[in-house]
Amino acid sequence: MNGYLNKIIPFSSVDGPGNRTAIFLQGCNFDCIYCHNPETINHCINCSFCVKACPVDALTINRENRQIVFNSNCCIECDACTKTCHRNSTPKYKVATADEIIKEIENYRPFIQGITVSGGECTLQAEFLIELFTKAKEIGLTCFIDTNGSTDLSQQEKLMNLCDGVMLDVKVWDKERHKKYIKADNEMVLKNLDYLVDCGKLYEVRTVVVPELFNNEETVTNVAHKIKNSTARYKLIKYRHLGVRENNLNLTTPTDHDMNHLERLAHEVGCFNTIIV
Ligand code: SF4
Ligand code: SF4
Repeated sequence: MNGYLNKIIPFSSVDGPGNRTAIFLQGCNFDCIYCHNPETINHCINCSFCVKACPVDALTINRENRQIVFNSNCCIECDACTKTCHRNSTPKYKVATADEIIKEIENYRPFIQGITVSGGECTLQAEFLIELFTKAKEIGLTCFIDTNGSTDLSQQEKLMNLCDGVMLDVKVWDKERHKKYIKADNEMVLKNLDYLVDCGKLYEVRTVVVPELFNNEETVTNVAHKIKNSTARYKLIKYRHLGVRENNLNLTTPTDHDMNHLERLAHEVGCFNTIIV
């Protein structure tokens, strides 16, 4: 089965326990105003707009099927194509089978404990994840997902049986602000939070702290309350400008004081397994 693959980072120490290979899939059903990887949101529609932007002719058009062809051997990683794309996509993602990905991961096998699949939103490709995780388990790797929580994980029995841990983004507690700045409902996210606490698969909750958009105190207090009796860690992430779309660069990075205040709020409700990054 094919998956839509944005990129593979061979070694990561921030995507779950130990050293892991992080696999980013293409396509997301959220559109966060502060998204740090907006080029992973949509699939390419082969409009060819970005082809001329490439300074080294790494992009061409297949005359028969009008699809964009990306030549990674020429690419100098200048990102001109993704900056040009008006659709929050990239011509560089590829279609890959689970076997092809496993073949690449085998190169890193002696140095990693497992794989973490992120996105985009990886659970939109649940059947592909099931096949990939089944094969990863066969070579002794643990399997984690990093999800925006938009799909009902309680209905994904096969996937959850294969999955060793979940990193869940809880972006904002307030429903209306979630709709406004994330462009989606958060009902399922909060349902998944409860489900993952109950089934013991929650490894970490992540909240990106954006001072002027959200009531971060409300989000942190509520999440901390939910997870305080679980083994899950609460990661509070400073919003940073890196990778954010140009028209949203006016957002403020929270201060250390802001972050310490939020961490204290988590501690006050009894959630002590916290980290600020
Ligand atoms: S990132 Fe690669 S493909 Fe994209 S414009 Fe730059 S050289 Fe061309
Ligand atoms: S990546 Fe964007 S600009 Fe380039 S062909 Fe695809 S949709 Fe068009």
